[in-house]
Amino acid sequence: MPSPSLDVLAIAAHRDDVEQTCGGTLLKMAGLGRRTGILDLTRGEMGTRGNAEDRQREAEAAAKILRASWREALDIPDGRVENTWENRLKVARVIRRTRPRVVILPYWKGRHPDHYTASKLGYEACFLAGLAKLDIDRALNSQQSAFSHVASAVASVVAGEQQTSGAKPHLSAAEFGTTGSRALPGGAESTRDLPAGADTASLMPHRPFKIIYATLYYDVRPTFVVDITDQFEARFESLMAYKSQFSDQEAGKDIFPARAEIRARIEAMARFYGMMAGVTYAEPFLQKEVGLVEDVTAIPVKSI
Ligand SMILES: [Zn+2]
Repeated sequence: MPSPSLDVLAIAAHRDDVEQTCGGTLLKMAGLGRRTGILDLTRGEMGTRGNAEDRQREAEAAAKILRASWREALDIPDGRVENTWENRLKVARVIRRTRPRVVILPYWKGRHPDHYTASKLGYEACFLAGLAKLDIDRALNSQQSAFSHVASAVASVVAGEQQTSGAKPHLSAAEFGTTGSRALPGGAESTRDLPAGADTASLMPHRPFKIIYATLYYDVRPTFVVDITDQFEARFESLMAYKSQFSDQEAGKDIFPARAEIRARIEAMARFYGMMAGVTYAEPFLQKEVGLVEDVTAIPVKSI
């Protein structure tokens, strides 16, 4: 059974980014009967608190609260999201499998390199996914077999089994984003309802109709906001599902604020963007395109 297409796919660098930047919007879309999904590019193995397995369990719980139909994490190294050909192929593969109409990406500027790199990587993957002549699996396989060829040469050299007189191999496993065993082709790790057998059949070219950028991590004026007044509490709970990160505890308490402080910050941001549009809580987005209006008397948000 091929999985039905997603209406909205949110792509972000880290597990818990979507919960902080556009979780309310995903929940609202689910409430309107839309099918939503989340792709986390990394698995959180570099976190000060907890490990990748903890983060996976927490991500699943958060997805349930946000009523997401689908969630997966790729195996791109945490803290090292790079816009490489292989990573673009991995993300493009997910776009072909899930066939979203709308993709939400992080804004393309920010403090954390993983966030702004994920933006460009996501955009270019959306483009690649639509190229009719691109055979993604073949391209990925040739990347990975080139890698294993180089890796075994490196292993031989390291083991002193072989003297090479030519160019020195200089690629490491980390550079290719591989983590050893792979649950799924393309380095995906499923956390929810993935029909693995449907992969190849659903790899037809696909390009999303719309790309919007979640701007909450960066101080930039959004081009629109989504009213999440009714979704705010659930969105906060989805973030709190990351217990290893956000519950009050000893480890890393100098860098992690207490729950009450997090709540105050999240609420202040949501109120700020809500106020811009005359609602209580909102999430900010940016679109590169202009807005198209049919009836000027129906444009929301009061001017004066
Ligand atoms: Zn992040």
